[in-house]
Amino acid sequence: EKTYRVNRWGNGYFAIGEQGDLQVTPRYDQPNLKINLREIVDEMVTEGIEFPAVIRFHDILRSQVERLNRTFRSTIEEADYEGRYMGVFPVKVNQMREVIEEIVDAGTRFDYGLEAGSKPELIAALAYNTNKNSLTILNGYKDEEYLRLALLGLKINRNMVIVVEKFSELTMLIKLSKQLGVKPIIGLRVKMMVKGRGKWESSSGERAKFGLSIAEILNAVTLLEQEGMADTIKLLHFHIGSQLTDIRAIKEAVQEASLVYSRLVKQGVPLEYVDVGGGLAVDYDGSQSTNDSSCNYGLEEYIADIVYGFKQSCDLAGVAHPHLVSESGRAMTAHHSCVVTKVIGEIHPRGAEYSTRKATGEHIIVTNLRDIETGLNQDNYQEAFNDIAQLKEQAMQAFKLDVLSLEEMAKVETIYWRTLETIDVLAQQQEFVPEELKEIPEMLSSQYLANFSVFQSAADSWAIDQVLPIVPISRHQEKPTKLCSLVDITCDSDGKIDKFIGDEATGNPVASNVPLHSLNKDEDYFIGIFLTGAYQDVMGDMHNLFGRLNEVHIVSYDDDPKDFYIEEVVKGSSVKGVLSTMQYTPEIMAQAIKKEIDKQIQRGQIKPREGVNWIDFYEYCLDGYTYLK
Ligand code: PLP
Repeated sequence: EKTYRVNRWGNGYFAIGEQGDLQVTPRYDQPNLKINLREIVDEMVTEGIEFPAVIRFHDILRSQVERLNRTFRSTIEEADYEGRYMGVFPVKVNQMREVIEEIVDAGTRFDYGLEAGSKPELIAALAYNTNKNSLTILNGYKDEEYLRLALLGLKINRNMVIVVEKFSELTMLIKLSKQLGVKPIIGLRVKMMVKGRGKWESSSGERAKFGLSIAEILNAVTLLEQEGMADTIKLLHFHIGSQLTDIRAIKEAVQEASLVYSRLVKQGVPLEYVDVGGGLAVDYDGSQSTNDSSCNYGLEEYIADIVYGFKQSCDLAGVAHPHLVSESGRAMTAHHSCVVTKVIGEIHPRGAEYSTRKATGEHIIVTNLRDIETGLNQDNYQEAFNDIAQLKEQAMQAFKLDVLSLEEMAKVETIYWRTLETIDVLAQQQEFVPEELKEIPEMLSSQYLANFSVFQSAADSWAIDQVLPIVPISRHQEKPTKLCSLVDITCDSDGKIDKFIGDEATGNPVASNVPLHSLNKDEDYFIGIFLTGAYQDVMGDMHNLFGRLNEVHIVSYDDDPKDFYIEEVVKGSSVKGVLSTMQYTPEIMAQAIKKEIDKQIQRGQIKPREGVNWIDFYEYCLDGYTYLK
């Protein structure tokens, strides 16, 4: 538990079970539900579902929607806050139809709506957010078609709130709504002065991409008044960035926005809603800190700061409490899916062993190294560490100058790594480990080769050094003995994960290795990449033509707390599928191969029966999964 901090990032949904397997409790209000993740993996193996695969827990999605809405409601009640909570889910965070359907369904009784940030997302929201009492918040830059679609929504009685991000959108909207005879519901996004904290802090401030300055907001109000549309301004919007690591940023934003709100209301602007945007962070590394992949607050504190912050500020100003809207996406979805894959090999820096037996006339560097290895003991291991490093350096120079043979170089490598391992063992036995020797475990660490693509399944790990928890599915009763980084199967040296949950003892927020178990020949070693349900699920690309993953949806039984069933299997991309998206025609490709094989058959190079087998094999692979078998 200490190694992987499952209880901390698990948010009540993940834990290590009694048998040393990871365990999932998918409903926050039913702590007795305990599904063994290893059993899910076993069932997938039995059913022939190939890995890597996404395991999706719809119950976690529902739980998160309920948690958010219930906490807002209870805090509002407790604070005697006069407004309602009318949250929306931002579609961009996970656009998968099944995810949107589940969220809308779980949110119906809370009038929880959707947020769209583009035309395609708006088209999806129109079709899926059918609850007439909920809001559809429309963000992002808009063209005339976008605005027409929003007005279509209003025509069919949806509460489409058109958030003006750029002043020119307003003039277009006024013209269109008059032309089509539809009264819009307008939101104004304010460019905030307060800076977010964390990776997305450029979402606010003067150079922010979106939003109106105070001057533009006042001009917008004047323009709408002149056009006789002042009564359409209903919502004030702000968003200071995603993954806000420090609660202070939220407090400051609430303070600033509530002042803008109350002053506008006092000026006669009929605002009814304030939308606080996204930003509610996920504690990916379980450190509960202001690390980039963590946060120093929880859901309850976040909500209390918003509700009490607005209450206090509005009471002081003597204006009505606005209805509160939030657009949390990351916190709603991150926990509900994970990627499970198999480790298929180990790449050790030592590589293969080569016989180091003394040869007559061998180079002195080889002899010296061998002597150090033979004479190694508890009194000289630090000196030996320095000496072998120097000898290895010299050996490399000598090799480049053609003084050392290939065979001698192989001996140097073998003795060097073997000696380093022994030095590490000797150093670990001491109470005090000299600073420079603390690097040895890292130098000796392995790379575990896992069957997945970072670019498809953990895009943010590659793009922005996002830490995602990586944990073995089982063997937790056994101490992990290998320090590893993970490499994927893309032929790209960037295709690796080397940012892991940091080390609390050293205060290092990010570690370059994760402890894993040694691989057994007769047992598959499955690991999970967790908290991939927000952004990662949908942002991946097809680098090396590795496509979307197979996916299973897990549902728990009400009457049996340990049982589950695979409700749905969604097949990942086939080779044919990914090739087609890149404009290939697989049928023509298969014909081309057949032609070549026929030629070889005519030349007598391939027997007809063998030729047919080769053609079948090519077609079989075209239909197959893009990952390794
Ligand atoms: N709303 C807006 C306008 C956004 O830009 C974003 C993402 O950055 C979100 C909501 C979702 O934010 P989060 O995933 O941090 O909840």
